[in-house]
Amino acid sequence: MMDGAPSGSGRSGGRASDGASPLGIGACCAALGGLPRGIFRPTPPDREFLAGLHDAGLPPARTVVNLRALPQVSRSVPTPFIAEGVMAPHSVGSAMTAFVVEHPEATFVVDPGICTHVRQRAVAEVPLALRLVVKPPAHVLDLCTSLEQIGIRPAQLDFALPTHLHWDHVAGLLDLLELPMRIHATELDWAMTGDLAPVGGVRNAVRGRPIDEYELDGPPVLTFARSHDLFDDGSVTLVDLPGHTPGSVGVLLHTARGPVLLAGDAAWHSLQVEHIRQKASFPGNLVDEDRAETFRTLHRLHAIRGAVRVVPTHDPDAARFPF
Ligand SMILES: [Zn+2]
Repeated sequence: MMDGAPSGSGRSGGRASDGASPLGIGACCAALGGLPRGIFRPTPPDREFLAGLHDAGLPPARTVVNLRALPQVSRSVPTPFIAEGVMAPHSVGSAMTAFVVEHPEATFVVDPGICTHVRQRAVAEVPLALRLVVKPPAHVLDLCTSLEQIGIRPAQLDFALPTHLHWDHVAGLLDLLELPMRIHATELDWAMTGDLAPVGGVRNAVRGRPIDEYELDGPPVLTFARSHDLFDDGSVTLVDLPGHTPGSVGVLLHTARGPVLLAGDAAWHSLQVEHIRQKASFPGNLVDEDRAETFRTLHRLHAIRGAVRVVPTHDPDAARFPF
């Protein structure tokens, strides 16, 4: 197992072990048991909450960024396992897409999920019950291969910007040990505090690299309560998408083709955003840290879908650029 010495300007989780939290049999059984109810009686949208949302609008932007989705293979997953109660189409694509953003001041990668030998180095740390459903296909592309396919050398990257710290959003960094990371302070606390990593966390992808923590210290943006303007020019704005993990963020980008929100795992697929349907209880109950908060965040995404292109990280069709 790889490791590194703590370094950089922020905390690097030096007191935490590399172990992962186990999943209880009870939690797994409850999640499985909820599947039929989710299919036939999905949790309905909260129309009152939706109607009460205030849209603060987009931040004024002085700079345009370029966005590219890195090549990645997708697999087919039954739709009811992605979005409760959605039966058509019967299956949807699921991928672990990473993104490269080019700003005049920096080039960075969002959600670098896949490293070389990812099954041995990252998936092996995921609890068995989850491993069976999240295991990527054997021919999944690691981050450096994907970068190479679009003509970017790893040395051209200035930093990584994960939406959250689940393994499939940071494991690619196991191949880029020196690359700095920018991360929401709340998320870093959640992932790196305590003896064991949270379910789905891979601390080795975080430890030992320069880390620049940020707070969501800016005003409301769109329907999101807090924000952080990464370059102080409105081109890259991080917005609060809590629930899936406590510090999950969305990356709102001002592109030449309009605003795009990389939404991480606040939703797995655009069908969830369109229909306001939470993830199926298995594995959703096991990976959403706070299901109620995740569902509220889904309402916030639904409310802006007409004005902003919302891209869940795992939805390969939403990530198909240019659009
Ligand atoms: Zn996640």
